[in-house]
Amino acid sequence: MSALDFSPSPTPRVLLLGGTREASLIAQMLAAQGTDAIFSYAGVTHAPLAQPLPVRVGGFGGVQGLVHYMQHESITHLIDATHPFAARISDNARAACAAVGAVALLRVERPAWQPRSNECWTQVPDMEAAARSLPQAPTRVFAAIGRKQLAALAQHAAQHHYLLRWVDVQDVDENTLKNIGLPNAHIVPLPLRAASHTVQDEIALLRQHRVQWLISKNAGGAAARLKLDAAHALGIQVVMVQRPTPSVAPPARFAHITQPAEALAWLASA
Ligand code: NAP
Repeated sequence: MSALDFSPSPTPRVLLLGGTREASLIAQMLAAQGTDAIFSYAGVTHAPLAQPLPVRVGGFGGVQGLVHYMQHESITHLIDATHPFAARISDNARAACAAVGAVALLRVERPAWQPRSNECWTQVPDMEAAARSLPQAPTRVFAAIGRKQLAALAQHAAQHHYLLRWVDVQDVDENTLKNIGLPNAHIVPLPLRAASHTVQDEIALLRQHRVQWLISKNAGGAAARLKLDAAHALGIQVVMVQRPTPSVAPPARFAHITQPAEALAWLASA
């Protein structure tokens, strides 16, 4: 259904589910036009970006918790600008809006990467398939995947040497990784919000760690693509994990956009 099919609500009050660059951009736009809105973080990082909106942190307690929160806060519009791989909260947003009925839902999801004509990726449906697609003989893998998916590597491909990269490096050390079954892993910090980070930096990292394979989630976005460009420049094989598909049907009042700038037009019409 198009965003323009809805009758405008008199006084919008927005709940914005964040944790992405797109959510931060929308927060700036909502704040600039004085929209009544609340920004929500899951609380997974220690120092999330400051936002120009009131911020709440932490899970809602599943679908029922989100329903209760939206009713208690008199939310009229829910904007789900969470990460393409944050499947559970997106499913919860769909289910909660279907349950409440009066709340319109906007999904903001950046486009997935497509391989360029000279790139060749092994496309796999999930992290288990990614782990199984690595060679049997020990090799050196940059697993750009986040902490939640490490079990798949430990279960199916523990023989490799892994380079891992995430925001809060202090949360998981290499001993912890040994305990979950990844004895050969090295963790480096993600260069968060560093506009100056370039493909040359990514090439230097891959060279330094003599990476031969890259596992990436198809997150989309320009900054995160630098590692793919670097892998291509060095002839490193890429395993691309496709995005999860929603397991909950969208509610009646639903729209999907890829560009944060379209959110205000939706809000004006939904
Ligand atoms: P997830 O698996 O979909 O969600 C797990 C639980 O975290 C949800 O059920 C919900 O708890 C809570 N949650 C998630 N996002 C929330 C938000 N914005 N506000 C309040 N509660 C939230 O999500 P995930 O993959 O762990 O990602 C967590 C957060 O990190 C998301 O906000 C996402 O945008 C961001 N992020 C994720 C990735 C990734 O690769 N997955 C990458 C970059 C950023 P309740 O059920 O209790 O409500």
